[in-house]
Amino acid sequence: MTDKELTLDPEQWSEMRRLGHQMVDDMMNYLENVSNTPVWKSMPDKTKKYFEQSVPLDGSNVEDVYEEFKENILPFTQGNIHPKYFAWIQGSGTPLTALADFLASTMNPNASIGDHAARYVDSQIIEWMKQILNFPSDGSGIILSGSSMANITALTVARNQKINENIRKEGIKLTEELPIIYCSTETHNCIQKAVEIIGLGSNSLRRIEVNSNYCIDVQKLKKQIEFDIESGLRPICIIGNAGTVNTGAIDPLEEMLEISRKYDLWFHIDGAYGALAKLSDLYCNSLKAIELADSVAFDLHKWLHVPYDVGCVLFKDKKAHHDSFVVTQNYLQQKTRGLSGGIETTNNYGFELSRGFKALKVWMTLKEHGVQKFAKLIEQNIYQAKYLEKLVLLNTNLELVAPVSLSIVCFRYTRVSVSDNELNEINKEIVILLQEKGLAAPSSTFLLGKYVIRVCIVNHRTTLGDIEKLIENIISIGNQL
Ligand SMILES: *Cc1c(COP(=O)(O)O)cnc(C)c1O
Repeated sequence: MTDKELTLDPEQWSEMRRLGHQMVDDMMNYLENVSNTPVWKSMPDKTKKYFEQSVPLDGSNVEDVYEEFKENILPFTQGNIHPKYFAWIQGSGTPLTALADFLASTMNPNASIGDHAARYVDSQIIEWMKQILNFPSDGSGIILSGSSMANITALTVARNQKINENIRKEGIKLTEELPIIYCSTETHNCIQKAVEIIGLGSNSLRRIEVNSNYCIDVQKLKKQIEFDIESGLRPICIIGNAGTVNTGAIDPLEEMLEISRKYDLWFHIDGAYGALAKLSDLYCNSLKAIELADSVAFDLHKWLHVPYDVGCVLFKDKKAHHDSFVVTQNYLQQKTRGLSGGIETTNNYGFELSRGFKALKVWMTLKEHGVQKFAKLIEQNIYQAKYLEKLVLLNTNLELVAPVSLSIVCFRYTRVSVSDNELNEINKEIVILLQEKGLAAPSSTFLLGKYVIRVCIVNHRTTLGDIEKLIENIISIGNQL
């Protein structure tokens, strides 16, 4: 033990302050020039090796730590903030929200408990989310790390409501009829995991076939529900997609809602990607059923461009939501005054206790830009997808493989008298070469047995010029293969 007491604060605040300023300058330059850098580059073996070093026993100078970050970490980014990134449904971040993360981490509160500002921002964001989706104002919700968590939170409440009011105490009784949840074959795999984790088992999940638009076939859905009821099983929930991951398909939500009412089932919507498109006139009708759903999950790190990781789930029935998670433990008990006063803990509305101040960046970006700007940006991406669709349809070397919905375009490069197998190989190579050359980063998927190039445009930096360049590069690489 030294005679001086230890702390993690710097000995020289001036040094830390200088480094902080440097970091802000570097990161703003980085963002300002991001479009001139390669979208992605693979990490050299020497850098991969660097990450095998064992845990440091002694500290180093902060300047050196930052240099190591700049050399080994920063250059090998995923690329999703780049305008030519089209790989997955990912948002692209903004300068102010990056700074907001710094502010939130500096304050470093736990946004679940206590009477302090983060709690009020957190609950204001839930109110704003309800307003954005025109969701019932007496509904409830919680900010989570993403839609995987939002979906499992929703399905937990659905299960508790529809199976048995004592389920929290007694669990699922094996003697009871098997509860059944319905969704389309195009549903995200987090739903299957959620169904498994909440104890129903994946046999409880019925994946209903889709039509040629990749939307659930509602006739088959109805038939399956009736068949299951006749077989002595117990349907409890229908899940609709507001934008599937694969092709952006929006299930016929109104019809699914009607079916759920007819059979007294919970209606949940996975709107991780597409729910916010409700802000646009183009989609406000096809997404209107969100207003009447029992629950909806959606991401703010996708079309709201908030840095990872922020998702949200809303519930029409606040009591049902609360009943699923409330626990009263002495040390968390609500007081009327002091630090334990104020808003009820969000721990009564979800599984997580410790929660970071994610809400601050959401709050700041909505203050900075206003909701209407986000509506326009979503429409811009939808328009860019339509433009890409047009370029594909006009080019004899390109074939559209799925109908364009929201902002996903699935197509492939093609040539006369080349077999499907060869085309699969050619398209696979095109996608990889685009990525390795740092020219663009689309992803791929399999549709109708064809290997297709999948372009997701969820990016406020992407321009029509980027779309044209993408097509140019695909054709030129394809022609050389
Ligand atoms: C992204 C996505 C998810 C998963 O959400 P995370 O935020 O990645 O956990 C689920 N469903 C759909 C349709 C998605 O697009």
